[in-house]
This record gives sequence, C-alpha cells and structure tokens, in this order.
Amino acid sequence: MNPISAPRGTRDIFPPESANWNRLEADARDIAHRFGYGEIRTPIFEATELFARGVGETTDIVEKEMYTFQDKGERWMTLRPELTAGTVRALLEHKLLAHGPQRLYYIGPFFRYERPQAGRYRQAHQFGVECFGVGGAEADAEVIQIAAMLIRRYGIGDAELNVNSVGDAVCRPVYRQALLDHFRPHAAQLSADSQRRLERNPLRILDSKDSKDAQFVESAPKMIDHLCDECRAHFEALKRYLDALGIAYVVNPRIVRGLDYYTRTVFEFVSSVLGAQSTVCGGGRYDGLVAELGGPPTPGVGFGLGLERFLMVVDKLAGDHAPPRRGIQAIALGERARDRLIAIVGALREKTAEPTFADWQARKVTAHFKTADRNNARWALILGDEELAKDEIVLRDLLARSDRRLPLVPDAAEVARLLVEATG
Ligand code: ATP
Ligand code: MG
Repeated sequence: MNPISAPRGTRDIFPPESANWNRLEADARDIAHRFGYGEIRTPIFEATELFARGVGETTDIVEKEMYTFQDKGERWMTLRPELTAGTVRALLEHKLLAHGPQRLYYIGPFFRYERPQAGRYRQAHQFGVECFGVGGAEADAEVIQIAAMLIRRYGIGDAELNVNSVGDAVCRPVYRQALLDHFRPHAAQLSADSQRRLERNPLRILDSKDSKDAQFVESAPKMIDHLCDECRAHFEALKRYLDALGIAYVVNPRIVRGLDYYTRTVFEFVSSVLGAQSTVCGGGRYDGLVAELGGPPTPGVGFGLGLERFLMVVDKLAGDHAPPRRGIQAIALGERARDRLIAIVGALREKTAEPTFADWQARKVTAHFKTADRNNARWALILGDEELAKDEIVLRDLLARSDRRLPLVPDAAEVARLLVEATG
C-alpha cells in the first residue's frame, strides 16, 4: 500500500522545530497582553458569504483562493482564508462593541488555495491583532508598535516598515477615476489579470507583480497625492506618532494591500531575506468593514503576521546557532537502578520546569548518551550498581564533560532537590 502524504501546501511541525513555534506564540501573546489585547478564538470554517462580503468579491482571495465546500446540510462553507472577518462576525454576534472599544488578538491557521512555494502554503498560520472603535491614528500606531516589538525582540534588523494611505470613501472614488484615466489608454498592453481588474477594481493593478504591468504601475498617479483633508491629517498624525514611538518607516505609495476593506492606513513589514515572499506582516485600517458585515459603523485597525515567514526570517538570520542544551537525561543501568530512579525522575518533574528526559529501556550506557545528545540535554544523571553500592548518584555536565557525585539519600524528593540545586 502507498503511504499517504500530507496535502500539497501543508506541513507537519514537530520537535525540535515545534519549540520555535511555541516560543514565538508565547512571545506574541506576551506582547499582545502588554498592550491590553485579549485573545479571540473563532471557528476554522464559516459561512462562505462572510468572506464574500467581508474580504471582497474582487480580491484574489475570494476570486480564486478559497477552500469552499457544501456540507451535508447543503450549506456553503469556507475554511477561513484570513481571521478578521470571523472576528468581526463574532463581535457582532455577541454584541461586544456595545461595551466600547475592543482590543483582540488571534493566533491560528488560515487556508488559501495558492501555488505552494517557499513562504507560501495552503495552510499557514497568523498572529494578528484588531483594535475596534478607535478612529484616530493613535490606534494605527499602537498596532504597528505591537508588530514592531515582536520583530525587534527577534532581532530582525532588516525588516522595513512601509506605510501608505489608500484614502476613504471621499477621496478614493476620485483617485479611482484618475487611475482609470491612466490605465485605459494602455489596456491592451496590460497583463490578463490587470485587464480584468481594470473596470472592477483598478487599485488592484498597483498590487500586480507581472512585469507587463510594471511600467504602467510605475507611472500611475499616487493615492497619497489625492488624499482628502481628513485622510491627509490622519496620515500626518500617524507619522508623528511613529516618530514619537521611535519606529522607523518609509512611505511607500505602491502599497495597496490585497483586501478591499482597507481605508486610510495600510502598512507592511518587509524583509529582504525572504526573496519573492517578502511580506512578513501586513495590515491597515478598515473603517467600513463592521458596517459592511451588518454592524454599527465602527472603525477598526489591525494586522496579520505570517508565522511561517517570520520563522523563516529568524532561521535565515540566526544561521547555524545550535539551541542551548537544557535539562537532565536520567540514565538507569539495570533494574534496581531503574526502580530507584523512577521516583527521583518523578520528583524532578514536580520541582523544575526544565525537562527531565528518561528512556527506561535496558541499553548500553553509550546508547543512553546518544539519546541525551539527541534530546539536547545539558546534564546526564547516571545510576548503576556501582553507585547504588556507594549510595551515590553521578551528575555529568555534558558541556564541560565533568562528573559530580551526589548522595543518594532514601528520600527521592530530597535527591531531586539536591539535583535542582546542582544544575540551577
Ligand atoms: P502576499 O502578497 O504575500 O500574498 P497577502 O497580502 O495575501 O500576502 P495577507 O492577507 O495580508 O497576505 O496575510 C498576512 C500575512 O500572512 C502575510 O504578510 C504573510 O506573512 C502571511 N501569508 C499570506 N499568505 C500566505 C501563504 N499562502 N502562506 C504563508 N504565509 C502567508
Ligand atoms: Mg496573497
């Protein structure tokens, strides 16, 4: 029988790599909590209509990337392609906006039918935050600081913050017309995708990575030259706040973001080490979204940060640094030693957060040391007949390659206490 593999574009995450995920998720939570954001968990699948309305019919996501299926009750369902629409759906369903602004974060998988390549998967994971109910640029600066703090904590010095404004319902229609006037005379020379976008959503052409479009995109009018007074004041305030927070940025008029719901601020953190899939984090303001999904007019701003891409950057920058050795490998040589060691190992696991590894199989001592290396253990704890006879236990420092002998007293908890002291 042929073995079954994971679906194309998905990947398994297991030790030791999963430790990097655990650490990143813990750091993301820690930073979100510092800003007063609480976690929201929403279903992995939602009614298809939620994304059609909440993400936008003319986006790549809705047009070609969604995993949509009919369930046994013949309802159309979609595996979430992003987490903002579900968050808003939940806010409205539970009337959370009645209590004033809401600050939420999420960590979880999303699904897009894309062509798999480095940094582009069909199941990927995001850490994201959403701030609802604050219309001022101070909220934009706040969410940007969350992403910036996570990036700084991992020492990703080359991640560049790009900011732009895409205007609002007042100035964007005027800009849209300016774009149409610019692109229409060259329509026949544009890529097939961009020709299709021309009448439906010409802003999307600016997002095009097709070389056919490059020359016309380059010369296109810029939204930031067409902002209305209020959008301009918002953008200026954002830049002031970023300066005040010591967050470096560049204004990049090319950033439009793929989703229809953005208003005013859009931003991306881009890393040069990622090649084509360079965007680690993308976000912006979406003041029309809550109303679009049937709620009261409520401003919102947030971002989604791709965990796969973030870890790829961390990996590339870290090079081959081995993770530090941690914990104790307990090695019992013989049945009597094992009987004594079981209680000591049990007590160690109560007393210290560092891992205690134990492989109870009867094997040669060299095989046990190989296991200790595989576990990246810092110490080995060795008990054999010789030690039992002397009421001693050997603690080997696997880095310094030196041994210490500790008294093997009858009370296992006391032995564990001595070991925690000796290895602390
Ligand atoms: P891209 O332009 O690279 O397709 P996007 O604009 O579609 O990105 P968003 O919808 O803003 O991306 O998602 C936020 C973040 O999620 C991205 O910045 C990226 O880090 C990550 N991301 C998006 N799509 C994928 C994917 N298919 N695989 C892995 N990570 C992804
Ligand atoms: Mg995309």
